[in-house]
Amino acid sequence: MKTIFSPLHAGHSGQTELVAGAIVPGFEKPSRAEIIKARVEAVKLGPIAEPEPHDLSAAKRVHDAAYIDFLPTVWPEWEASGRGGSAMPFTWPTRGLRGDVVPKTIEAKLGFYSFDAGAPFVRGTWDAIKSSCDTALTAARLVKEGQRAAFALCRPPGHHAGSAFMGGYCFINNAAVAAQWFRDQGASRVSILDVDYHHGNGTQEIFYSRPDVQVINLHGDPMTEYPFFLGHADEKGAGPGEGFNINYPMPFGTTFEAWNASLEDACRKLAAYAPDVVVVSLGVDTFEKDPISHFKLVSEDYPRIGGRIARLGLPTLFVMEGGYAVDEIGVNAVGVLTGFEEG
Ligand SMILES: [Zn+2]
Repeated sequence: MKTIFSPLHAGHSGQTELVAGAIVPGFEKPSRAEIIKARVEAVKLGPIAEPEPHDLSAAKRVHDAAYIDFLPTVWPEWEASGRGGSAMPFTWPTRGLRGDVVPKTIEAKLGFYSFDAGAPFVRGTWDAIKSSCDTALTAARLVKEGQRAAFALCRPPGHHAGSAFMGGYCFINNAAVAAQWFRDQGASRVSILDVDYHHGNGTQEIFYSRPDVQVINLHGDPMTEYPFFLGHADEKGAGPGEGFNINYPMPFGTTFEAWNASLEDACRKLAAYAPDVVVVSLGVDTFEKDPISHFKLVSEDYPRIGGRIARLGLPTLFVMEGGYAVDEIGVNAVGVLTGFEEG
């Protein structure tokens, strides 16, 4: 399996985040991607190539054009205004406020185009965002051209980013962009299988009213887990999308046995949908030692996940999402891929 990886991710570095009342170094840090890449090399998964540059038209197929055009302006405007630290908002147009007028100052615009303070910008952030999207599209092309699977080693991740908002370390929804690209290249149906610990709220929002992209999420119950405001089992899609959004919220402490029962049900529904291609939002923050998550999967479980996905027998694009237990992130993420190769 080929891996697509861009060194430009490393410029998205040194950003801070707000956790439990304190500003702390971001958990979403460059070593995550570097350790995964080193593991790809160590197990000889296959060649590693850099992404081809794309224009932003593919991203604008699933995101609001003004939102995408805003992203490269954030850091220059933040810096020019004399502000320091990481660029992040502190005010959002929630219920009772107006969400139809884009204000003029940079922190207000950041609030307009986000749902939390969890997608901070630093100097290299835009280049990393762009290269991450290019990574997904380049890997998608490999699958379109006949590869059984490809690995988009994306950083930053994407599944919390919605049609017109960032959040949760995510800016452009790489998996959604790739899924739409497959559709635009002639795929009649695409399934997105999101196995990250956190609900992929952005992916759900983007495709919620559409029957041509099935979105399946296995994740921590939003009653107790980020992103809190989406991801319940009764969210099944709207209008023509009714029945094509499937959520499996699970409680703190879920072990592989229970998690795998959800995966099995998900795979049955995915197979019944009979897509032309599967996009896997691959997060490994389901791991027992993950510092910000609460499931109990162990490293031996990840190849089994890959093996089950392989048994779907469908062209598969793996898109890297979360995972914050940095020492084990390589073993776990690449474990899914080796399990797929052997499955
Ligand atoms: Zn996650």
